[in-house]
Amino acid sequence: MNWSINESAFEHFILILINPLSETQLMKKAIFPGSFDPLTLGHFDIIKRGVTLFDEIIVAIGVNASKKYMFSLEERKQFIEDAFADESKIKVMTYKGLTVDFCKEIDASFILRGLRNPADFEFEKAIAHTNRDLAPIETVFLLTSAGTSYIASSIVRDVIRNNGDYTKLVPKNVRVK
Ligand code: ADP
Repeated sequence: MNWSINESAFEHFILILINPLSETQLMKKAIFPGSFDPLTLGHFDIIKRGVTLFDEIIVAIGVNASKKYMFSLEERKQFIEDAFADESKIKVMTYKGLTVDFCKEIDASFILRGLRNPADFEFEKAIAHTNRDLAPIETVFLLTSAGTSYIASSIVRDVIRNNGDYTKLVPKNVRVK
């Protein structure tokens, strides 16, 4: 029997032995939760910049049965999948219930959120504190980029409803059929 083992596999094995955490826990996995009705250039910017901080980002579409959406869940998911088709570190999932419960379910230790203005800050602060009370999950905030700070899904929906040119506000693949 050949017991030889290549050097990098050996280093990997030693790393797992000396580190009490499992390999999955070593990975920095974040979720970016939202409605994404639809995905905008504001979301796109936060996710792209988040990729530099985490090993994996799960764009998590929260399903709220009592909320009316302009785009179906399938359309919203497809928009995100197509926009990040060549980014292996970005995945799209849907979830129901508490965001922290979903984090536990998929072993994510971080929640990524974007901040546009003081109103976002106040809103996000309350949610982040509540989440910290519920679970040991850190919320990481990225400040919006200057060029996309005014964009919100609600504004995009308004422009679409009134037949305006929404294409400058969303990634190229996000189009009304
Ligand atoms: P929800 O409506 O369910 O809060 P959104 O889809 O509006 O979800 O937003 C999801 C996340 O994206 C939030 O953290 C929000 O602050 C962030 N976000 C939305 N638009 C922008 C933007 N233009 N710049 C930075 N962050 C943004």
